[in-house]
Amino acid sequence: MTPTVRLRSVAIGALAAALVATSVQAAPPAPRSPADSEQLARSIFAELVGLNTTHAIGSAKATDALAARFLAAGVPAEDIFVGGPRPDKMNIVVRFHGRGKGKPVLFNAHLDVVEAIRETWSVDPFVLTEKDGFFYGRGTVDVKQEVAILAANLLRLKREGWKPDRDVILFFNTDEETGGDANGVEWMLAEHRNLIDAGLVINHDAGKGQALHGEKLWNTIQTAEKVYVTYSLTTGSAGGHSSLPARDNAIARLARAVAKLDVYSFPVRFSETTRRYLEAVQARVAPDTAAAVRALLANPADAVALDKLRDAPVLNAQAHSTCPVTLVQGGQSESALPMRAKATIQCRLLPDENTDEVIATLRRVIGDPEVEVGVVYPPNPSPAATLDPAVVAKVEHVTDEMWPGLKVVPVMSSGASDSVFFRRAGLQTFGVSGTFVDESDLRAHGRDERVGVNEFYESLEFSYRLIKSLAAAR
Ligand SMILES: [Zn+2]
Repeated sequence: MTPTVRLRSVAIGALAAALVATSVQAAPPAPRSPADSEQLARSIFAELVGLNTTHAIGSAKATDALAARFLAAGVPAEDIFVGGPRPDKMNIVVRFHGRGKGKPVLFNAHLDVVEAIRETWSVDPFVLTEKDGFFYGRGTVDVKQEVAILAANLLRLKREGWKPDRDVILFFNTDEETGGDANGVEWMLAEHRNLIDAGLVINHDAGKGQALHGEKLWNTIQTAEKVYVTYSLTTGSAGGHSSLPARDNAIARLARAVAKLDVYSFPVRFSETTRRYLEAVQARVAPDTAAAVRALLANPADAVALDKLRDAPVLNAQAHSTCPVTLVQGGQSESALPMRAKATIQCRLLPDENTDEVIATLRRVIGDPEVEVGVVYPPNPSPAATLDPAVVAKVEHVTDEMWPGLKVVPVMSSGASDSVFFRRAGLQTFGVSGTFVDESDLRAHGRDERVGVNEFYESLEFSYRLIKSLAAAR
């Protein structure tokens, strides 16, 4: 069982609110792929955006289209797998054989997209439209651009007669956005693990480049995601006529519990990833926020600094587990005393948080045995990846070749992607992509989703170099 749409693809967003703009310096143009390669990438991109792969329709048309392209390019049929739990929910895996020097490296992105309401868009969401320096369409940034980039690059490498040291596997899956019983990564791991078993997984749906108002800040490498878990608080009281209130009132009791949780902060704990991320961000936030980040890095128990960080939710989320109240229900009639009250507590836990301890903490903070704490959506813990210096060095090297001087910063996502399934299955997984997304212009899942034309083509060349680098023997 995987989570539903509510937790998918949560943007690193809100970062823009915490950042301070600096003057933009003109950077030299980044290297680009040959024109024929760019044309191929664009044509695959247009084909994929043109195929509606929302949950209701499924991804089978996209897997058919991609399989046809790989077959036409001379990839043997036995190296192409198309399959899924249902005829409409299909995944595609393509293997490019190497010299067997090490376990395969796998590149992953999902094929499905969230719904798009035509009337709310200024262009047709299912037609790739180039306008004002952007490609518009559903999936242009989440995440068909990456599928097109990876497919075009492997076709380019095949044309160039490249023979990697290790097998290179492309895996494009269905149903990332909705989870549910058709998630392609979960299904493949359960049914055909041998086809996607890799020494290294690079998920192109995470670890984007972050820009602000047109200025590239840094590229990122995603090593972890917070764990999604939902609890309920329920309590009851005797009820009766509202003209004769008793001492005990279920809604008031629940309100007291919620108020206590609201001011409670889970302990701050940094990983190498969150520490390095906050160190990098520090240089780009307002001085008082930077001072709070610095104080907290020096002393995680600094309550004043943590309180200051609550004004910057995107930074606060990196520092500790969070459990806000999201829903509340109670009572049964305007003129009756409540018999029942219920609140929903939605937690995003640090990857190594002990979930039994979290529930014990909630009970302890509430301090009222009459308020029952229950689990609504159980945690599916997924461990953080250990930052692998060899992988980081390659990502840094390719990033620096493309955009000289640009840093690579490790990140932990506060939302979730398919990386959780790979990591839970024990596969070393990092989110990496060379697609820069502007934090002041986040449109994934929204209207008029778009990616910069330059950003798309730069990412094409970044990915080409990264594939070659990572497929080389260690
Ligand atoms: Zn996505």
